[in-house]
Amino acid sequence: MTKCDLIIHGANQLLTCASNGKPKRLAEMRNVGLIENGAVAVKDGVIIAVGDSDVILRGFEAAKVIDATGKTVSPGFVECHTHIVYAGNRLNEFELKIKGAEYLEILAGGGGIISTVRQTREASLADLIEQSAKRLDKMLALGTTTCEIKTGYGLDTVTELKMLEAIFELDKTHAVDVIPTFLPAHAVPPEYAEVQSSKSKVQCRSDEYVELICNEMLPQAAKIKNQKPKNKDQFFVDVFCEKNAFDLEQSRRVLETAKKLGFKLKAHVDEFTNLGAARMAIELGATSIDHLDKISDDEIRLLADSDTIGVVTPTVNFNFGSHEFADARKLIDAGCAVAVSTDYNPGSAPCPSLPAAMSIACRYQKLLPSEAFNAATINAAFAVGAGEKIGSLEVGKQADILIFDTGDYRQIAYEFGGNLINQVLKNGSVVI
Ligand SMILES: [Zn+2]
Repeated sequence: MTKCDLIIHGANQLLTCASNGKPKRLAEMRNVGLIENGAVAVKDGVIIAVGDSDVILRGFEAAKVIDATGKTVSPGFVECHTHIVYAGNRLNEFELKIKGAEYLEILAGGGGIISTVRQTREASLADLIEQSAKRLDKMLALGTTTCEIKTGYGLDTVTELKMLEAIFELDKTHAVDVIPTFLPAHAVPPEYAEVQSSKSKVQCRSDEYVELICNEMLPQAAKIKNQKPKNKDQFFVDVFCEKNAFDLEQSRRVLETAKKLGFKLKAHVDEFTNLGAARMAIELGATSIDHLDKISDDEIRLLADSDTIGVVTPTVNFNFGSHEFADARKLIDAGCAVAVSTDYNPGSAPCPSLPAAMSIACRYQKLLPSEAFNAATINAAFAVGAGEKIGSLEVGKQADILIFDTGDYRQIAYEFGGNLINQVLKNGSVVI
């Protein structure tokens, strides 16, 4: 008998989401690696065996044993795109949207993201951490065990670096593993966007802000990156390539500068407008491109032929009350590696629940529950550069494990608005 720390056994269904070291595509996305009467053995926070319960119980003994009879066991959810470090809320905007205001209208009027920027600049570091930790608490309770978090509500050097500090502090102190993304190119800050001036003036001022990002903000973030060996390979720079935000050339400038400084890349592309950023980001070797509502057929083919993960965020469209969604069905059928995310943020997607994002993806983007599951686990892990470590129940991987109060995994996307989590384990320890 091999001694270990923990055995979970008797699961009606155990999903491995195993992928042979690569993100899943095409038919593989419908394969969740289902084991009936499944078990998993854990030692020192790492998975040392996965398989049939009878086999595992004969070969291993553990100090702690969890009987998962009648339940579903799966890898922890990986949330690959959030903006959850911010201060305040946008409840007034929620009412404005119900009355019919558009996102870009609110942005152009200095509301929306800019109101969050004001509140985030004013907040102390301690306050930012406290407010954000509560959001991580909610996500953990819903099964998220790793979470990417972006800066982007500072839009000045001091506040962007304060947000980064908050992100690192959350990683240190919270049970959820946090992956940092630096996103000073989230919006043009109010002091650079003079809404009352002519169109060319606005353009000119945003160029000045891009200079600040490339000459000051990115080099300072790179210094922090180089002091954090743990995060060196999972430290991203992102850009919001969109009308009224950053155009294609500005976005390219930011990403090329970031790449030279050793950052991995992400990009918000094609959310409202196709500016050609999908092609640009794929050609620069971005780890993921996110949103993809307006991606072209040519760009879909390019994405399918690349290692870049396509991240869809159906919670955003749902939040807008839209009937139009990124065509994730088409992306999967074309051979793209697709991940799903909540895009949890105060404006366009105040949603902490990956199961809710999966529910919406199944209904509006026509993903099968199996595809949604792989999209929120193994493919999402690759979207944050951590596919070797998390996202599946495979020997050698981190023991981030969910136990659900259902015997059929499809129920997790079938139900919505509830929470089927029974237990959450992080590095082999029960945290929920
Ligand atoms: Zn975003």
